[in-house]
Amino acid sequence: MQFFSTRDHNRVVSASQAIAQGLSDEGGLFVPQSFPQVDVKAICALDYPEMAAAIVGQYLTDYSQEFLQEAAKATYGAAFGGKAGYLAPVSDEVYSLELWHGPTCAFKDYALQLMPKLLVEAKKNLDRTEKTLILVATSGDTGKAALDGYHDIPGVEIAVFFPTGGTSEIQRLQMVTQEGENVAVYAVRGNFDDAQTGVKKVFGDPAIAAELAKRNIRLSSANSINWGRLVPQIVYYFAAYAQLLKAGKVRFGDKVDFCVPTGNFGDILAGYYAKQMGLPVGRLICASNENNVLTDFLTTGTYTAKREFFKTTSPSMDILVSSNLERLLYHVTGSDAEVAGLMKSLSETGSYTVRPETLAAIQESFGCGWSSEKEVAGEIRARYEQDGYLCDTHTAVAFHVAGRHKREGVPMVVLSTASPYNVPPQRAGGSGPHCPAERL
Ligand SMILES: *Cc1c(COP(=O)(O)O)cnc(C)c1O
Repeated sequence: MQFFSTRDHNRVVSASQAIAQGLSDEGGLFVPQSFPQVDVKAICALDYPEMAAAIVGQYLTDYSQEFLQEAAKATYGAAFGGKAGYLAPVSDEVYSLELWHGPTCAFKDYALQLMPKLLVEAKKNLDRTEKTLILVATSGDTGKAALDGYHDIPGVEIAVFFPTGGTSEIQRLQMVTQEGENVAVYAVRGNFDDAQTGVKKVFGDPAIAAELAKRNIRLSSANSINWGRLVPQIVYYFAAYAQLLKAGKVRFGDKVDFCVPTGNFGDILAGYYAKQMGLPVGRLICASNENNVLTDFLTTGTYTAKREFFKTTSPSMDILVSSNLERLLYHVTGSDAEVAGLMKSLSETGSYTVRPETLAAIQESFGCGWSSEKEVAGEIRARYEQDGYLCDTHTAVAFHVAGRHKREGVPMVVLSTASPYNVPPQRAGGSGPHCPAERL
């Protein structure tokens, strides 16, 4: 399988190159040249690590199957407490896909526990010997998941920058207590944007680049536009379906809807890939918080990043420029020139509008909705009081939207992206509830 840039078809790379490089030089994202078709029934019979190796292997064809099997086993076994891709029943035909049983209690562990292994192997495949320095600006989840994933990985160092007071106390403690010889964590005076702007400046500074080159160091990022972060997320859509099959809740071929709390559009896009690979996915419902730029886009076809930014209780979804949407635009238009034009318009004017045919094609697979802060709070209470199920704020955004999109007779799987103890209401200096994962 080869990959090319969403903005230029002629930039073709191998999977190893896509993972080592992250972003294409002209700013496009790498996408696979085709959607591999799989034997869904056979895949549904596998356990989670085997399933991960089989699905990831469809895309990373220049990695050996032995390597992928070993890596998947090491990643999704004990570290996830035997609960990788665990599907919890919540109410009639509604399920919660609990993606937070990994070491740092949020779904980013699925990608960031595997990605370091993929990067080391990519460098091996490409005969590259430089040191990789990973810089991350984070509002919480990405930083702690990346630190945990990359600590003590040979040939890699990682530095994470977080805004002072901008994360939950548990997230801060998870970051500043990270062990490892190759990790560094910095608190930045300012907000997330200040942290991110600083990191971007380092990436764009020629003097720093020259100094790093002298020392044989290459900068890299751990953010979700890297193909290596997207591909592990396809797996749990299959795992959810497999569990519904096994429990007799669907017959093979029956459709299942998924509702996904969305920020950068990576998690939900993985569901689109699962669907294109043959999984019987019904509708993919994109759930947003008050930063509802995606709801507007999926409804009208106009994407406008120029709007008020709200700080909400689901901070990992407080995003105005949803990077992975570019991949979907490519897949539905099939035109690099068109995507390049839309992205140019976004960077120059802060908005773009797709053609009506493009919007219609997107709406065939995607529904959408958003939840206000009040609705999120009410939803947490309702799920707890009515179903005895405690969910976190991000998951609650999705539960609320899922309630409006539930179709009679079609199971609805809500992706639960964080443990309810991950971002509890801030108590300065207090002793909040503890993360239930085994390693804390
Ligand atoms: C990152 C994150 C999201 C958003 O995922 P995207 O792939 O960026 O859409 C949702 N919930 C939690 C808890 C997250 O950490």
